[in-house]
Amino acid sequence: MQYPFTDEQLALADMVGDFMEREVAPVAAEIDRRPDPKDCYPAELINKASKLGIRTLAVPEEWGGAGADTTTKALCLWRGGQTEIGVIKCLSQCWKISTAIAKRGTEAQKEKWLKMFVEDDDCVGSFLMTEPDYGSDNLYRQPGAHLGLKTSGVQDGDYWVINGAKRFTSLTSWAKILIVFVRTDPKADLQQGTTCFLVSGDQEGVTHGRVHDKMGYRLYPNAEVFFDNVRIHKDDILGELNRGYHVQATIFRGSAELAACNTGLARGIFNFCNQHVKDRIQGGVPIIEHPTVQHMMAEMLMNIEVAEQFMWRICWGVENDETFNSRFTRYGKVFSDQMALKTIALATDILGGIGIMKDNPVEKMIRDLLTFLHGDGTDSLTLLRAAQTLDEPV
Ligand SMILES: Cc1cc2nc3c(=O)[nH]c(=O)nc-3n(C[C@H](O)[C@H](O)[C@H](O)COP(=O)(O)OP(=O)(O)OC[C@H]3O[C@@H](n4cnc5c(N)ncnc54)[C@H](O)[C@@H]3O)c2cc1C
Repeated sequence: MQYPFTDEQLALADMVGDFMEREVAPVAAEIDRRPDPKDCYPAELINKASKLGIRTLAVPEEWGGAGADTTTKALCLWRGGQTEIGVIKCLSQCWKISTAIAKRGTEAQKEKWLKMFVEDDDCVGSFLMTEPDYGSDNLYRQPGAHLGLKTSGVQDGDYWVINGAKRFTSLTSWAKILIVFVRTDPKADLQQGTTCFLVSGDQEGVTHGRVHDKMGYRLYPNAEVFFDNVRIHKDDILGELNRGYHVQATIFRGSAELAACNTGLARGIFNFCNQHVKDRIQGGVPIIEHPTVQHMMAEMLMNIEVAEQFMWRICWGVENDETFNSRFTRYGKVFSDQMALKTIALATDILGGIGIMKDNPVEKMIRDLLTFLHGDGTDSLTLLRAAQTLDEPV
């Protein structure tokens, strides 16, 4: 590996990789095939990962975690994603939740929420932004108070009363900590009128709806949830009132999460192909001896390695460069999405019929890779956001 990882980072990634291969790989296909998406949440595996310290990897050391930085998180996610993406993405979600509370929370909130998160091996969290009528609108900066999420918060003394509905949100049905994006100033534009609230998953007035039946990432389930006069104390506002988008920026722009998911999964597909081309005989020789297959394998690896190198560059920039332009994190997502699509096209050619047969793990990897290309916003919208910074210096 070319990026100068520390010995500690490499040891953590090895530990994660070992856990994924030992505990997750043998059971992932069976869980993925369960017909009811409610049955696909890997509770037992999250609990086991927690006992190894993986769930709390990003919690600051003074609060009992490993204090993992952006590079460490991306490295562990990339490594784990080569084996199975759903379980490691559940854990990465835990890293995001704990980072948000550690960076944006008050001392009292850390005492209440971060401590609870660390002590409970089954505790996961959820970010709730998307609503039935507002998906991309929440991620694109456009003027107009009528645009964007409508889950409302109305002040009543020391409490805020929340009403509304969210959908497509990850891990919500199992989350003990909900970070809910709420419109607290309906007359302001979305970015100036939204507040993040910390809400308990079993808070009175919170009703969990259906779990979505997804094509891939089935071990990382998404769901609907409804808020009916949910009363939240003002002390549970995460960040400042009407500045919920600052919390969002902390979580998403300081991360290479989706690039790590895509490159990890693509590496997993490459590894499978790399073995297959040596084992499969056609024309009297292993198919790797055919120049067409050599060319496709080289092209697949080139795309993956370029995306990986750019991902490590993003991590370095986030950690070391105060002027780092968030345009690059957007490129990391979009470029790795495009690399993912190209990887699938090449793999289905190299593997022929077996690429889509359910009796090998690559079929699931292909479904998984196709499932989350719109994560944190579609590519078209993400590039539209990048276009808003064309004149900003690098
Ligand atoms: C696996 C998975 C995990 C997810 N996890 C979460 C989560 O944890 N929390 C959460 O809040 N959400 C989550 N989501 C939701 C996700 O963020 C949205 O699906 C995504 O933002 C796109 O919104 P949409 O699906 O409503 O698409 P739409 O908004 O309907 O977009 C459809 C098309 O219209 C285009 N478009 C829309 N608006 C504009 C515009 N103004 N200008 C130009 N083009 C536009 C888009 O680019 C896209 O091409 C998840 C979704 C999935 C499937």
